[in-house]
Amino acid sequence: MYENCIFCKIVRKEIPSNIVFEDDDLLAFYDINPQAPVHILIIPKKHILSLAEVREEDQEILGKLLLGASKVAKKLAISEDGYRVVINTNRDAQQTVFHIHVHVIGGRPMSWPPG
Ligand code: 5GP
Ligand code: ZN
Repeated sequence: MYENCIFCKIVRKEIPSNIVFEDDDLLAFYDINPQAPVHILIIPKKHILSLAEVREEDQEILGKLLLGASKVAKKLAISEDGYRVVINTNRDAQQTVFHIHVHVIGGRPMSWPPG
């Protein structure tokens, strides 16, 4: 838990969020600035800076994040039509919050390659 991390504050419920799913390890909530009709963030409760910083010991939580993405997509009824899972990592990918998070984006057709 990092005192000044915005996502740790969301985990601690010091900042309100619109929660979709929560268990002992994960929290999923609506992105405050959605890029599509459905835009959810899934985070581990453990403070990990980015995908660039993960270690072998994070294998289980990384698996849980993707399973969480799959469950959230089903729960929000975008699974069949399709959705995108994104982990922006460091500067070139424009990561802005340095607590690892998985974006689950759907509800409209998307283009490829991303910008
Ligand atoms: P990044 O650019 O780091 O991949 O994504 C960070 C995401 O967090 C952005 O999509 C941004 O809209 C979202 N975000 C930033 N602050 C908050 C907040 O306080 N609450 C919620 N729900 N989302 C946030
Ligand atoms: Zn954090």
